[in-house]
Amino acid sequence: MSLTRHRLCSTFSNKEKMPAGDAQRAWFPEMLEELKKRWKLDMSWNECIQLCRNATATRTKLKKEKGIAGPLMFCKNCNDYHEMSPMPIGIRSLLFALKKEGLIDDHTFEIKDKEWKKYQRKHQLDAVGNPKKQRLNQPSEVTPRSCASQSTSS
Ligand SMILES: [Zn+2]
Repeated sequence: MSLTRHRLCSTFSNKEKMPAGDAQRAWFPEMLEELKKRWKLDMSWNECIQLCRNATATRTKLKKEKGIAGPLMFCKNCNDYHEMSPMPIGIRSLLFALKKEGLIDDHTFEIKDKEWKKYQRKHQLDAVGNPKKQRLNQPSEVTPRSCASQSTSS
């Protein structure tokens, strides 16, 4: 299994309008159900990171099952057009989903959000909880869409 993990496809043509809807959806109802079952308030950040990974994997599976393809875009990494999968689900996305589903209230959300930022800084983690390696030449605020090659694992 050779996965070329170039998640930071920093430059791709943005000329094509991205279709709204399922291709762009971050959280499917099935994922939220799973989240409700597994989420615990006293979870460690490591467990939260794992939860995010599971959610991203579930999303990939659901999209495959539903036959939802992402938009084709030009990827300078591959020098070709290919499907761009949405960004993997990160901790903040998780927190927002929890709040939206009423699993945590606004106050808890703010505390968790702050705690996460602290934890993230302390351990030098990116949005999905992976250790930050060498900086690629782009600001971290930009959230590039990951290469499709990353999600074709089966
Ligand atoms: Zn690519």
